[in-house]
Amino acid sequence: MSPSRVLVLNSGSSSVKYQLLDMRDSSRLAVGIVERIGEQTSRLRHTVLATGAARELSGPVADHDAALKAVAEELAKDGLGLDSPELAAIGHRVVHGGKHFTRPTVIDERVLAEIERLIPVAPLHNPANLTGIRTAMALRPDLPQVAVFDTAFHTTMPESAARYAIDVRTADRHRVRRYGFHGTSHAYVSRATAKLLGRAPDEVNLIVLHLGNGASASAVRGGRCVDTSMGLTPLEGLVMGTRSGDLDPAVIFHLVRVGGMTVDEIDALLNTRSGLIGLCGDNDMREICRRIDEGDRQARLAFDIYIHRLKKYIGAYYAVLGRVDAIAFTAGVGENAAPVRAAAVAGLEELGLVVDGGLNAVHSTEARLISPPDARVAIAVVPTDEEMEIATQTYALVGGGDA
Ligand code: ADP
Repeated sequence: MSPSRVLVLNSGSSSVKYQLLDMRDSSRLAVGIVERIGEQTSRLRHTVLATGAARELSGPVADHDAALKAVAEELAKDGLGLDSPELAAIGHRVVHGGKHFTRPTVIDERVLAEIERLIPVAPLHNPANLTGIRTAMALRPDLPQVAVFDTAFHTTMPESAARYAIDVRTADRHRVRRYGFHGTSHAYVSRATAKLLGRAPDEVNLIVLHLGNGASASAVRGGRCVDTSMGLTPLEGLVMGTRSGDLDPAVIFHLVRVGGMTVDEIDALLNTRSGLIGLCGDNDMREICRRIDEGDRQARLAFDIYIHRLKKYIGAYYAVLGRVDAIAFTAGVGENAAPVRAAAVAGLEELGLVVDGGLNAVHSTEARLISPPDARVAIAVVPTDEEMEIATQTYALVGGGDA
């Protein structure tokens, strides 16, 4: 029988998340994470799904090379090692694929060079992704390794949505444009939402709201992305856990000229000390909702700012699409925070947007509708599964199935 397993690797700057899937039946065999790589207190958590066995190892893991070797050892203990003939490919999440990579791509030296060339537009993510790929290639040089890009789904955006209104030559020289991120999630959720509606993806217009710690919205017409809220980097758009999202670019000039801050300080401010955490000291929506219930006004204001921005994007993408068949909420906040979903569409009945309070309050891990059956626009909660999407695309590319 031909090999049917795919290992999905998501290499961040200090962590590696992984899942081993069997694409014959789309089952998960093992999942895990190595955290705090490069510190004394690194930790590996590994779960084998067939047996439910969970193992945790603590102690220093020096670098990504050591992390991946530790993962390989854990997998091997249950006969799932990287040397298994059943392994068909390794699928890597790569954050920035620029304009160039519109599809998942088998990695060779040319692809590595292009991902490296994109480091200036993704300085936090692409170097870590590259390290993970190189380590995996060294461990299994004979195996197809596939890059699945966070930006790929958004490469269908028209120039009118992708270009910023700045001098064209300057923009092109420095590759300044809207790329968009979370594309793997937007792609998966778009398809899953169409399925939930019982329609073909190319028949429906959707607004997808990926609300996690990072958050982005996209407008999807007939299965193709036509606009998205993140831009050159994941900083633009919605209010996020620790990122500001949209702001007047002159705020930056002001903080340099009047506030005496350096560009690096402002970068850190906008990426790590803004958004919900900057507004109220918490970036976990559970905690914010709890504080609101206790009458905390700072938490209330942070929530209101978050919702105001979200509502503006819903309105904007409604206008971009002209006709909306469904709005899909996904990721940690979107899948779990009923008050956010209700508030995001409150008052938009004229646009056909209505949430059923009873359906919205149900906790479930299944894709489901939360709008009344006769609503003009379906409102859905659709759990995302980026690893499954990466595995599906990877497997299809190496000849194993349909993407
Ligand atoms: P990431 O962007 O890190 O992948 P996730 O999609 O996992 O994030 O979302 C994490 C966020 O989801 C948390 O910071 C928290 O705000 C939110 N969240 C998770 N569970 C709940 C819940 N039950 N209720 C409200 N918010 C939740």
